[in-house]
Amino acid sequence: MTHLILATDKVSAEGLKLLHSDDRFEVVHVDDSSSQEFRDALARAEALVVRSATEVDSGLLSAAGLLKAVGRAGVGIDNVDVVTASEMNVAVYNAPGGNTVAAAELTMALMLSLVRKVPSAERSLRDGRWDRAAFKGTELRRKKLGLIGAGRIGGEVAKRCHAFEMQTLVYDPYLTNERAEELGVKLVGLTEVIEKADIISIHVPLTDETRGLIDAEALESMKPSTVVINASRGGVVDEHALAEALRTGVIAGAALDVYEQEPLPADSPLRDCPNLVLTPHLGGSTAEAQVEVAREVAAHIFDLLIERDSSGAVNAPSLR
Ligand code: NAD
Repeated sequence: MTHLILATDKVSAEGLKLLHSDDRFEVVHVDDSSSQEFRDALARAEALVVRSATEVDSGLLSAAGLLKAVGRAGVGIDNVDVVTASEMNVAVYNAPGGNTVAAAELTMALMLSLVRKVPSAERSLRDGRWDRAAFKGTELRRKKLGLIGAGRIGGEVAKRCHAFEMQTLVYDPYLTNERAEELGVKLVGLTEVIEKADIISIHVPLTDETRGLIDAEALESMKPSTVVINASRGGVVDEHALAEALRTGVIAGAALDVYEQEPLPADSPLRDCPNLVLTPHLGGSTAEAQVEVAREVAAHIFDLLIERDSSGAVNAPSLR
């Protein structure tokens, strides 16, 4: 008997090669999870692989009588009802490492865009101007990078910034001295990062501790030349305080890839805020990352269905 794997949300087929190439599995891709074809396949599936579009809620889970695993090809599992899945003995997997490099490289793109004013220079040129004086930038070399969070992504950003000859200060209360030494960064308190860094880049999860971490008071304590980048999670930076700080010149610039509400509302004050670079949650959006996150999840599903090993599941302790 083959194990039916249902993949939706345009999960990379190349990333699921481990399953596609093994005749113990039948892999079906149905990208529209609201379709009848999806519901029919779901009723027979032992594993479901989604990205962020499909809500794996209790209704969907109860329509999947044979389900043993849900794989989220990406980092966050906000769209999976892990509590109900655990009650139903369904293992839930994510792929936390698959888009690390993609997110770190986007951070570098935002950093360089900010200090060299690439987006506004490009807009000005397209508008018919040739205004070289307005777009004099600053260099990254010898600047202080202040990382808030230096886990997978923050660590990769630190390595890349080292190549740009920057000095890196890190605020991360959970980082060991060994890891800091390995990354060549200096562990300091949050106040030191806020007051001394030229470029502050945030790479933390959204938790009770990190929500609103960069608020009006933090922004006021930064140097007027500082720029702030958030490609982690919306809500870590207070958007209203940031818009105000940019409008009044409290800080020099900012770049955001993530927002309190996504998609960013059409009337968000951020949309016409000066010195702000905005991208629509593109951190993990590279061809390579999409393959990699699917590959990570495929390996877990293989381990569960063939090796009976559920150790990589986010809800492993609740499984029977
Ligand atoms: P990670 O778990 O490897 O690293 C997070 C780091 O934050 C850890 O080192 C942890 O010790 C630190 N941390 C936790 N609480 C903290 C606090 N209160 N103050 C300071 N540091 C704290 O995670 P990661 O893979 O590096 O991801 C970082 C963030 O980026 C996550 O929020 C993730 O969801 C997000 N992300 C965004 C995109 C995107 O598309 N923009 C893509 C991938 C990941």
